[in-house]
Amino acid sequence: MPKRNGARRIGILGGTFDPVHIGHLRGALEVAEQFRLDELRLVPSARPPHREAPQVSAEQRLAMVELAVAGVEPLRVDDRELKREKPSYTIDTLESLRGELEVDDQLFLLLGWDAFCGLPTWHRWEELLLHCHMLVLQRPDADSEAPEALRNLLAARSVNDPQAIEGAAGQIGFVWQTPLAVSATQIRQLLAEGRSVRYLVPDSVLTYIHAHGLYRAPN
Ligand code: ATP
Repeated sequence: MPKRNGARRIGILGGTFDPVHIGHLRGALEVAEQFRLDELRLVPSARPPHREAPQVSAEQRLAMVELAVAGVEPLRVDDRELKREKPSYTIDTLESLRGELEVDDQLFLLLGWDAFCGLPTWHRWEELLLHCHMLVLQRPDADSEAPEALRNLLAARSVNDPQAIEGAAGQIGFVWQTPLAVSATQIRQLLAEGRSVRYLVPDSVLTYIHAHGLYRAPN
């Protein structure tokens, strides 16, 4: 299909963002710049109600992501998974997004290598590439092999130069990135111990966490 002049390039990064931190944000920004994305949407996922941390609601996780990306081009927040009654499958999110885009808009699903290797367990996983390309974030030191179930897919769909990915969907590119050594688990632990997380999250998120007394150990 000929590329419309106005075809957009949109990336999506799902996660629980509990809370969002500089690892997510730097990684997202680097991919957005490298791939000249018009938008990179952070998509907070719903969790089964019994798994929600007692003090931190989905609304609060969303509020923190909104604060983190406010005014930072081309990062955005997409709250569609939180608006649903139940946790969404990625295929549902992609179908819903596709319904809002032009047919030639390019959609890039960002996935860590570990998540990519687990793909064959995902609901309707073989349909995902009908809707998006995949950018698999690889660590430079990673040496694990893809599972057998993905070998054919990789042979058919992976490209040597992810910058040259064309079309609206259907290809797999690998992006080598050294992640910052920070995780939401580490941040929750530090806060539960009453320690500082300054510089691990944006200041606006830090202020929100303290204002709402989030992630503190129960007295
Ligand atoms: P938790 O510690 O609670 O498991 P997390 O910090 O890994 O959380 P998620 O919300 O699970 O955060 O991550 C969402 C996405 O961001 C995932 O694709 C994950 O690979 C990526 N990500 C998480 N931490 C980093 C990091 N430090 N650098 C780059 N990407 C990251």
